[in-house]
Amino acid sequence: MADKKRALPKRKERPEEVKDDGQKPEENGEVPSDSAAGAAAVENSENGTLQFEPMELPPFEVITGDRIDPFVFKFQFKNVEYSSGRNKTLLCYLVDTGGSGDGLLRGYLEDEHTGTHAEEEFFIHCLPNIDPNVQYTITWYVSSSPCQACSLKLAEVLKARKNVKLSIFSARLFEWEAEEVQAGLKALHSAGCKLRVMKPLDFSYTWDTFVETEEQPLNLWEDCKDNYEYYHEKLDQILH
Ligand SMILES: [Zn+2]
Repeated sequence: MADKKRALPKRKERPEEVKDDGQKPEENGEVPSDSAAGAAAVENSENGTLQFEPMELPPFEVITGDRIDPFVFKFQFKNVEYSSGRNKTLLCYLVDTGGSGDGLLRGYLEDEHTGTHAEEEFFIHCLPNIDPNVQYTITWYVSSSPCQACSLKLAEVLKARKNVKLSIFSARLFEWEAEEVQAGLKALHSAGCKLRVMKPLDFSYTWDTFVETEEQPLNLWEDCKDNYEYYHEKLDQILH
């Protein structure tokens, strides 16, 4: 049984600002980082002292936490049309169990797209045991909408667990032009998932609820509303 209180390794990284001009990022958009690349304490067998040596990172890492770094939030959640450099999903969650069980859970997860996606990790780390006698009302605010594989998995969860209600608010639509991605979203919608694109107010709410704001309000970017309307229309076309 997974222990949901398990502390996962936390890696802080600050992606550089990438201009949202639709240009492809160099390489895969990963920001090279020497200091944050991870280090392993290696015992030197000769004198028994600990030395820190660079360690190759595992293929993916899921980070869980309470409050998101404001810089990371602004970069990852920006609802631009071209998501240059944004090669991960941030998933903020609220789980309401209606006064039973754990009460209200709040937190966030982030993944690297090369490994298990945040949507799936949520059920592994945050809700490892679903009690059939408890009603779960789950709300996610995600930086991008689920890929096809996650959509289909989530649809299966919702079909099998009638006591789980899921609403997903997405800042951007992930590869929405791909037919299989659209089919995944439709399946998720049919399984009862409420799918929405984040409105400007949702960004402010998410900022206040999940980010280390240090009392600073979120200054919404200039085209936030236009981009919302663009994605909202696309999602509406896909689902109806
Ligand atoms: Zn996915």
